[in-house]
Amino acid sequence: MDARARFVLLAAALVLGAATASGSHSAPAVCEGFPQTPGQIGGIHYRRSPLRHNVVFAGLAGTRFTLEGLVLSTSCKPVEGARIDFWQTDSNGHYDDTGTRLRSHQFTDPHGRYHLETILPGAYPGRTRHLHVKVRAPDQPTLTTELYFPGALHNDRDPYFDKRLLVHLAGVHRKLVAHFDFVLRIR
Ligand code: FE
Repeated sequence: MDARARFVLLAAALVLGAATASGSHSAPAVCEGFPQTPGQIGGIHYRRSPLRHNVVFAGLAGTRFTLEGLVLSTSCKPVEGARIDFWQTDSNGHYDDTGTRLRSHQFTDPHGRYHLETILPGAYPGRTRHLHVKVRAPDQPTLTTELYFPGALHNDRDPYFDKRLLVHLAGVHRKLVAHFDFVLRIR
């Protein structure tokens, strides 16, 4: 065996050893418990909605984005089959109270994931930009809450604004993506 082959073997053994050592000696990831997502007012604009992941329709004005994330339990487990209802204003701050525009519901997948294609909601008098949400795990009570957007003009002046409900906004492949994980106390 030449020097180079011995070096490769030695390096491989070291990597393998390190992997084994870290596997056998490090503690397994421990769930410290997630804080429960705070509830908020539901307002007066909640209505029944279609099952769908996309509420954008032809001619809809506004900044499109994808909202995505997980539904988790306070014990850090993904929640499958949680129902999530979303409702919001259009970019001018108006709700559709006679139809189903910008309203939807969906169910989390086996990994607890959800996603919604929508537009940034507009502010209206007294309220900063927000999305209304209801989240309900199977056979559990409903969490009614709202999501907020970092940097929105009226966040500081909205008495309901809660920074724990801020989405994380990022540009991904030229698309705007908002991330938020809901955490439910499962009884
Ligand atoms: Fe509202």
